[in-house]
Amino acid sequence: MGNNEARLITELQEQAAEVLVRHRSILDIMTKLDEYNARINRAIAKSVTFCGCIEINAKKQDFNSTSLNDMLGKMDSHIVGEICPNCKEILEQEIGAYMFFLASLANTLDFDLSGTIAKELDRTKTLGIYGMK
Ligand SMILES: [Zn+2]
Repeated sequence: MGNNEARLITELQEQAAEVLVRHRSILDIMTKLDEYNARINRAIAKSVTFCGCIEINAKKQDFNSTSLNDMLGKMDSHIVGEICPNCKEILEQEIGAYMFFLASLANTLDFDLSGTIAKELDRTKTLGIYGMK
């Protein structure tokens, strides 16, 4: 993670600390995170059912491969089409709001979110394919 990204995350945490008046309680923050998680999923569903810019065509994944690269090449997102600029903007707003409340959660529990992200990046790099979630 570059300095610029780390600075943005720190700034979001500082901003969240400043503007969060109504949702100070950890319970409010926890349930706001749930709400925005649902709103992210709702925005994706609306891209399919209302806008129609993307479709979801899901089926069983094929894990029978001889190599990891072969397997990765076969893994399917199950998304057909490309999300349109309008849907992308809506989704960005929901994800942004989610990140705001994640920053608030980090503030409330005294986490440095950029440090948390850096640790996760390290773990992912160290574990590589064995750390697949
Ligand atoms: Zn769309």
